[in-house]
Amino acid sequence: MNITLHKPSTKLAGLYLGIIMTISFFFSATVYQLSMQEFTRGFNTAPGVIMQTPSGSLITSLKDQLVAERERLYSEAQNRVLVRLILTNSIIMIGGGFLSYYLARRTLQPIEEAHEAQSRFTADASHELRTPIAAMQSETEVALMDPKLTLKQAKQRLQSNLEELGKLTALSEGLLRLAQLDNTHADYGQPVAIDTLIQQAVNRVLPAAEEKNILLRTEIPESMQVAGDESSLREAYIILLDNAVKYSPEKTEVLISAKQSPKHVTVRVQDHGIGIKATELPHIFERFYRADNARSKQTKGYGLGLAIAHDIVTAHGGSISAQSRPGQGSTFIVQLPKI
Ligand code: ADP
Repeated sequence: MNITLHKPSTKLAGLYLGIIMTISFFFSATVYQLSMQEFTRGFNTAPGVIMQTPSGSLITSLKDQLVAERERLYSEAQNRVLVRLILTNSIIMIGGGFLSYYLARRTLQPIEEAHEAQSRFTADASHELRTPIAAMQSETEVALMDPKLTLKQAKQRLQSNLEELGKLTALSEGLLRLAQLDNTHADYGQPVAIDTLIQQAVNRVLPAAEEKNILLRTEIPESMQVAGDESSLREAYIILLDNAVKYSPEKTEVLISAKQSPKHVTVRVQDHGIGIKATELPHIFERFYRADNARSKQTKGYGLGLAIAHDIVTAHGGSISAQSRPGQGSTFIVQLPKI
């Protein structure tokens, strides 16, 4: 990646340097021309007075000497100006070269980072897509080659394939959602009541919470409103609540609270779950990132949920952050501009 972009940055630096040097050469040529005109004018006026003095052999020889001296001084001055201009241009070329390269790197760095993120995303997506496909393929092949395959076994294989298909569907939905958030702009101007929205999100994760005996407690004052797209915001809170339930042990509590300041509405989702290591916290909003805790507990997911929540919240002009202590729990904080 760095190697491929090394060439464009050299090319761009070359272009910058070309522009600097063209300006510098043009400027130098003008300076040189003006200096020469001034010298000619100066040299011509001073000896002109002497040339008009009465003639005589002594005077003539003095005149010749003066003309020769004038010519020598003129050519010396011409050389000095030329040497100085060449020196100045060389310094500009060396300094300009370094400056151009630095500017080219700075110009290309964000493009390089976006390109790198894009490649990583494509690689991760392909890897995640390949795993269930490979599992389904090998299971189907083995089943087809087995002459003694019973109906019961065939149904088991189909059931397992169905599970893999379910994973693929979830993954492609996540990918589509991210692409949608990247490319389309929903109407973020509707007034959205936070208490109703949170209640709807809570209702959605309630069955999963009840299965683990987790209490979902809400502390949301009424009449808090933000401007946004209702279904997207609901989706973001569902992701946070779903994670809180998914990464919490049984018989714990998840608290969803909201507060408002003159400019913002802040919603906190606090759990007493497995928590996230400090070193992993800065990465959890990245696409496909799954912390060790999620992998080792073998919880379902692709590491796309928080990336989607992050994109939704930032599209609304808000911010999302997390605080966590491994083994003690996590708090996700969503801040949105008030209506
Ligand atoms: P996933 O599908 O893996 O849940 P997310 O993008 O929703 O993907 O979350 C990214 C990672 O952040 C998870 O894999 C998990 O390691 C960590 N995480 C998210 N929410 C919590 C939470 N409430 N408690 C502990 N870890 C969490």
